[in-house]
Amino acid sequence: MTAILPPAALRSRLGGALVDEPTARYTPMRDATAERDRLDAVLTAHAPACAGDDRFTADHPTTADVDAMAAVCATCPAQAACDDYAAAALPPVGVWAGTRYPRREATR
Ligand code: SF4
Repeated sequence: MTAILPPAALRSRLGGALVDEPTARYTPMRDATAERDRLDAVLTAHAPACAGDDRFTADHPTTADVDAMAAVCATCPAQAACDDYAAAALPPVGVWAGTRYPRREATR
């Protein structure tokens, strides 16, 4: 099974490297190994702005929360790498670099 990349907020909770889990919840819709490795490298050097923020792991965030998360992402040192990863992997859920997934084009 393709490894998963949970939202960066989970990284701080779980500790250490990004976690591979055999769960469909965060299974990428597309392979994005290079983007994932780049994001992991950035997150090794810099804590994500979403660390410890429960809104980033909520199953059904409100529109207000999504807007607030986008503001958090705008301050994040991993924003570019997170955006690249999400755009490549098309995660089925979550807010990545200020964008809620699945995006419209990901569900067509
Ligand atoms: S850009 Fe947003 S979702 Fe991605 S790691 Fe940073 S704060 Fe978390």
